[in-house]
Amino acid sequence: GEFWDGIPSVAEDEMFAMITTFKKDPFPKKVNLGAGVYRDEDGKSWVLPAVKKAHALLIDSPDLNHEYLPIAGLAEFTNSAAKLMFTEESDVIKRGQVVSTQTISGTGANHLGASFLSRFYLFNGERQVYISRPTWVNHHAIFANVDITPVEYPYYNAETRGIDFDEMLSTMNSAPDRSIFVLHACAHNPTGLDPSREQWTAIADIMLAKGHYAFFDAAYQGFATGDLDNDAWAVREFARRGIAMLVCQSFAKNAGLYGERVGALHVVCKDDQATKKLKNQLSLITRVEFSTPPAYGAKLVNFILNDAPLYEEWRRNIRTMAGRLIEVRKELYRLLTEELKTPGNWDHVINQIGMFSFTGISEAQSKRLREEFHIYLAKNGRISLAGLNTKNIKYFAESLDTVVR
Ligand code: PMP
Repeated sequence: GEFWDGIPSVAEDEMFAMITTFKKDPFPKKVNLGAGVYRDEDGKSWVLPAVKKAHALLIDSPDLNHEYLPIAGLAEFTNSAAKLMFTEESDVIKRGQVVSTQTISGTGANHLGASFLSRFYLFNGERQVYISRPTWVNHHAIFANVDITPVEYPYYNAETRGIDFDEMLSTMNSAPDRSIFVLHACAHNPTGLDPSREQWTAIADIMLAKGHYAFFDAAYQGFATGDLDNDAWAVREFARRGIAMLVCQSFAKNAGLYGERVGALHVVCKDDQATKKLKNQLSLITRVEFSTPPAYGAKLVNFILNDAPLYEEWRRNIRTMAGRLIEVRKELYRLLTEELKTPGNWDHVINQIGMFSFTGISEAQSKRLREEFHIYLAKNGRISLAGLNTKNIKYFAESLDTVVR
């Protein structure tokens, strides 16, 4: 009895609980703007044509089997994934400085990266990591889970609805030397606000001067601008400048492989000796947690990355997704500002990028949208634009208009 009584209750995860409630809601005009999952114009989940072709190639392949992958994953996949992130011509790749390990999507990459730092990073004082305020909620728990305390750096300014850049830089300046900073490589979740290239350069200057460590979370490569290379600019620039760093890479969003859990952790090492040591250390962690990663999704992405026509098709598919989200932004902006004349400034709807819009509405307004209008979104006012389409956008805009008046 006592053992069971001692287990404290915890709330269900906000986003996953919302998916269940949404499914049960019988209201015909219900809208799901919760989780960051791409939907097509008909509100359906989209199997990317490039992925469909890769799947056909895979199941017809005479080499298809269901053997274990190595602990560090499918080497051809992780090597190609590293090149996608850093480019083949980058010094870190050419010099063999990058250790790449296959992970359980981006979440697993974050966890493995955090575990690695928890074990080996030479913390300067407190065992802490700086994360943006706000950030993907899971960052808090992922670091706390490996005994690293998350502390926040200013990022979003609610008044300007922009990046609190001076505050961010001053926190980076006053942080102890060699602090770890989690940076969203592109399409910041939840704000949809990325630093400009000039701002990234200023961040890099400080990171170098202070010896800070960059923990890049790249969950949305391709979703910010529609272009995989543009969206990797900050990561590549930091690598070029020799900033100590790792990158968490996910193929959930840009390949639409959410449930297949395809990702990689790339750690930039000092030299090839460090690389060898680290590879085995990371494998030690993986071995006790899940032994070896799932094979199917990694094989699909590997086909796409190593077949020129498929790769081009994938890039077009990404442009299709990113392009639709940009159209949704424009239409939402038009409805609010021109048609409904909704009070307030809505420029942020078109200025933000990526999958989300951080609407700036209050928790009470968000609750009203959910309870009165059956529009499901995060409490913090973040909406996933992918849930909007020509059939429901007007209903959403009108409901939003009602709750902010
Ligand atoms: N990082 C960020 C910032 C995210 O938004 C997400 C997805 N919500 C992830 C990592 C991880 O996603 P996944 O594990 O599905 O790749």
